[in-house]
Formats: sequence, structure tokens, C-alpha cells
Amino acid sequence: MATAIVTGASQGIGACIIKRLAKDGYDCVVNCYPSDSDKENAEAVKAECESFGVKAIVYPCDVSKYDDCEKMVKDIKAEFGSIDVLVNNAGITKDGLLARMSEEQYDAVIAVNQKSVFNMMKHVGSVMMRQRSGKVVNLASVAGVYGNPGQFNYSASKAAIIGMTKTAAKELGSRGVNVNAVAPGFIKTPMTDTLTDEQRNAMLSVIAMKRYGTVDEIAGVVSFLVSDDASYVTGQVIEISGGLSM
Ligand code: NAD
Repeated sequence: MATAIVTGASQGIGACIIKRLAKDGYDCVVNCYPSDSDKENAEAVKAECESFGVKAIVYPCDVSKYDDCEKMVKDIKAEFGSIDVLVNNAGITKDGLLARMSEEQYDAVIAVNQKSVFNMMKHVGSVMMRQRSGKVVNLASVAGVYGNPGQFNYSASKAAIIGMTKTAAKELGSRGVNVNAVAPGFIKTPMTDTLTDEQRNAMLSVIAMKRYGTVDEIAGVVSFLVSDDASYVTGQVIEISGGLSM
């Protein structure tokens, strides 16, 4: 049985992706931030994964921490034997205009959104290279492609993820490892629930489809990218934004 890890999978897009991968037949590692509420949510996600007849575990780990990621990957490899899919989904926002952005706001977003992708790809990448197979999907954002006022830190982290995706695709392609990114636009999740009505309306006005996306619409594309149907797709950034920009 193939194994999939999704980081930050206790809610939102990550929870939907890991459930979709369970439905696709993967054994599942539901990574979550190691807080009580995240662990509780992750246990519920794990139970939903198991309802598809696959094995699932919750692995709490702050993915911004290098050594903790190394241990998590080692433990998962020991328990499951292989790591076939990695979805780097964990992410945070700490928005503010550049003029008012603190160093703490900048560093925190870079650590969680960007460094975590290095931490996970470094350790899972070496497992996949030895296996000579594997699929990685990184969660970028349209903010990393086009920029977004108030998100200097977030846009920087998501643009970096695009560079990391293309570089890793070039380094790992000959070892049978596909690395792609998805760049969602405005998807309804707890992350976007914090936006003001004014910010929401501004987003809607520039979306061709005149509606927000759903978590299932992200999970469906990720499911395709890790499937055999996408075996010759690597180093790509797939925008899932309802035509936010074309
Ligand atoms: P969310 O806030 O609902 O979920 C993010 C998850 O990441 C949470 O479960 C959180 O606990 C987890 N997380 C945060 N820090 C962590 C850490 N250090 N270690 C482990 N887990 C951690 O957000 P979401 O909307 O589901 O976003 C998921 C991903 O999609 C993020 O990378 C986000 O940047 C990206 N994205 C979202 C949207 C959107 O519109 N919602 C748009 C573009 C990109």
C-alpha cells in the first residue's frame, strides 16, 4: 500500500487533501501542529481517512523545525516502509503592509511556509530518491505569482516555494520523483475567514468565475498530480483560481 503525508492536515485544504488521498487508496499520515486543538481536529480527520479502509495516523510536528521533521520522516518510513506522496500544505498568514510589517511577522511566515518545505523535501526527498519514485505537491499561492498588497511576507514565501518546486523537479526528475505546485486563488477555509468583507469583495471582482473556490477543487487537482495520469508532469505550477488572472 502506498503512503501519503500531508502537512498541516487538521483543517482546511490539508484536511480535504488527505481525505481525498485516503479515498484514492493511500495509507495516510495526518500531520498537524502540536497544539491540543489541532491534535483533536487531526484525530477526527484520521477517523474519516480510516472510513475509506486505509491505515491512518496522526503525527503532530511543527514543520518549521528541521530536527523535528527529520524525526517525523524517519518514524514514518519505519512504520510504513515507503513514502510515496508528500503534500507540503502547512501555512500561516501574518498580513500587514510592508511599511508596518515587523521582523517577527516576516520571520514567522517564512519559517512556517518556506523553511518547512525545505525541511520536509530534504528528508522525504532522500527517501524518494532511494525508492526511485515519489510525488511531491507544494501549496504555493497566486500571491507568490502576482504579489498581493499586505502580504509581503506571504508572497515571498509562496514565490520561494515555486522556485523550490522547479529546482527540486530538475534535481529529482531522473530519480523518478515528480515535484509540482498548485497555486490556489481565494479558497473558503479558516485562513480566509479572517478577511474583511471589503477584502473579499475586492477579490471577487477580479475572479472570472465570480465565486470562491472550494477545498475539494484543490484536493481534486492534487489527486490528479500524484496519480499515474500525471506521470509526465513535473516542475509545473497549476493555478486553481477560477480565472483570477490569465
Ligand atoms: P488553514 O489555516 O485552514 O490551514 C493551515 C494548516 O496549517 C492548519 O491546520 C495549521 O494548524 C497548519 N499549520 C500551521 N503552522 C504549522 C506548523 N508550524 N506545523 C504544522 N502545521 C502547521 O489554511 P488553508 O486555507 O487550508 O491553507 C492551506 C495551504 O494553502 C496554506 O499553505 C495556504 O497558504 C495555501 N493557500 C490557501 C489559500 C486560501 O484561499 N485558503 C490560497 C492560496 C494558498
